Amino acid sequence: MKIKMTVPLVEMDGDEMTRILWGMIKNTLLLPYIDLKTEYYDLGVKERDNTDDQITHDAAEAIKKYGVGVKCATITPNADRVAEYNLKKMWKSPNGTIRSILDGTVFREPIVVSTIKPYVKTWRRPIIIARHAYGDVYKDVEFKAMEAGKAELVFTNTEGKEISRQCIHEFKGKGVVMAMHNLDKSIESFAKSCFNYALDKKIDLWFSSKDTISKTYDANFREIFNEVYHRKYEGISFEKKFKEAGITYFYTLIDDVVARIIKSEGGMLWACKNYDGDVMSDLVASAFGSLAMMTSVLVSPNGYFEYEASHGTVQKHYYKHLKGEKTSTNPMATIFAWTGALRKRGELDGNSELVNFANKLETACIETIDRGIITRDLEILSEASNKRIVTSEEWLNLTAEHLEALLKQM
Ligand code: NAP
Ligand code: MG
Repeated sequence: MKIKMTVPLVEMDGDEMTRILWGMIKNTLLLPYIDLKTEYYDLGVKERDNTDDQITHDAAEAIKKYGVGVKCATITPNADRVAEYNLKKMWKSPNGTIRSILDGTVFREPIVVSTIKPYVKTWRRPIIIARHAYGDVYKDVEFKAMEAGKAELVFTNTEGKEISRQCIHEFKGKGVVMAMHNLDKSIESFAKSCFNYALDKKIDLWFSSKDTISKTYDANFREIFNEVYHRKYEGISFEKKFKEAGITYFYTLIDDVVARIIKSEGGMLWACKNYDGDVMSDLVASAFGSLAMMTSVLVSPNGYFEYEASHGTVQKHYYKHLKGEKTSTNPMATIFAWTGALRKRGELDGNSELVNFANKLETACIETIDRGIITRDLEILSEASNKRIVTSEEWLNLTAEHLEALLKQM
């Protein structure tokens, strides 16, 4: 008897090698066990081009309707891609479009297996990074002064009245100046998404900035997080929910967090400002081993979830695939996007069979890697005693066999 689903998942197909893996994963690991109910959106670059990108907007609206989506990696067109696929224009990044419609925050989480040791030897549990993906240096205004002169920061209200004027610097010669901004609304959404996700995962939340130096700008972030934490929503605050869940919210300086994280066991959600998140997410990803073992989830302040792999479409492997070669591309992060979405769907619908299945599938994948059955990317990272490099297809079949065995034990 296959597992039934009541509400559909929003399924967003993608491009190149990950699109090939997508089909293989469904056929080998999902369809034999689940009466899979999805609302399918083809976000492959050709279909986005054919629909003038309407399909991406429709998919995001569907996530708003149903609450949970799962997405395959997609091509973000650049000039080369426009020529390669003969596109009408350089369409925007689908992830950016979906994120701006859902107003979400991206959480990146490494998949931890015991035979791949993180570079930091105390890390035993994943460190999840949340990056505030709005403003700061990414939307700044910059100017290069070529002569002596004065740079000022001026704020004029909508009636045209000057509210504030401050001297940034009196230049005696050449120099540079920059101005940046952020919005309380965006910081508040970010804070809510972080508190919600920490509760969802039942892990501590750490938030860092540099408010000792930036006494207005960074202090504004700290104050908004603090205010959101204590404010009551429908009579109950995040503070109370955190206490009930036995988790803590902890604010400290960015340099203090860096020192603490290195000495920690992991297992926390680290909320970062935009630039910190950009840098730290790559650092943490590399330290945990491989981009192919990173999943990510977009969480909106309204509680919509979108799961996907952190890596791209693995273009180079796709070209080999097109030549008829059987590639050894790692499907882990894409599988974990599916299990994340299925588990969330199961939790929302009170479907314990589906939750159970998602957990078992993750165990089957992790144990397959721990038994030394791996794709080529893990060859130098794995410390399993008898390593065997297999193709994606072989890996999926062997994992399916192991999953069968695990499901029989239930
Ligand atoms: P990529 O697809 O992440 O791949 C870069 C390299 O990382 C690959 O060539 C491969 O190295 C390794 N790799 C990544 N995932 C792997 C996996 N699952 N198994 C084994 N190895 C893996 O990045 P890219 O080649 O720079 O980008 C390709 C396309 O993806 C671009 O069009 C970009 O726009 C898009 N992209 C999409 C997303 C998204 O949808 N979220 C994110 C990033 C990029 P080796 O070749 O050495 O084996
Ligand atoms: Mg980066």
